[in-house]
Amino acid sequence: MGYQEVRASARVLVPVIDSHRCSGCGRCVSACPERRYSLEVEGYRKQAARSEGDCRTCGKCFGQCPVGALYPGEKR
Ligand code: SF4
Ligand code: SF4
Repeated sequence: MGYQEVRASARVLVPVIDSHRCSGCGRCVSACPERRYSLEVEGYRKQAARSEGDCRTCGKCFGQCPVGALYPGEKR
């Protein structure tokens, strides 16, 4: 298998937000060096949203979530 084939088959993991768990604390917003997160109003509560774009998979956001609402998933 050549380099291009290996690269094409590589799995890229990015954070996925469990919206049922997210408490809207905003820690992930502060933690991400790429500013991928924002807080959005959903009814009576705030909730994290992550924009598509450059995620370096640095992992800084995972450790910040106090309720385990961030987990690694495959990039779509
Ligand atoms: S893994 Fe790093 S770059 Fe990607 S969303 Fe989390 S903090 Fe931001
Ligand atoms: S750190 Fe976790 S609970 Fe806080 S806003 Fe981000 S995803 Fe939601």
